[in-house]
Amino acid sequence: MTDEELRTIEPGVGVFWHEPNPPYHLWFGVVVSHEPTGEVSISIPGRGRLVRARSDRLHREVPTDAVACPLCQAGRTTGAVDRHRSGQSPTE
Ligand SMILES: [Zn+2]
Repeated sequence: MTDEELRTIEPGVGVFWHEPNPPYHLWFGVVVSHEPTGEVSISIPGRGRLVRARSDRLHREVPTDAVACPLCQAGRTTGAVDRHRSGQSPTE
């Protein structure tokens, strides 16, 4: 999403967050708070922890068109998004 979109998101809203490392698994999380740095803190139930992220690592919904997001393109080749949708946790 864009910085603009991120600013309009209230705490409690669900978003999808890319892990920082390949293959950039997409996780559902809930926005907890906005940080002064321009990041948001997100609670990731599937990981049991909080993360901070900038707008370029977040989506409002699982994208159907990944062209605009390099992280989605990277993840797509591994099926990470499909695994997320089916509710299975990636093996770590
Ligand atoms: Zn993406």
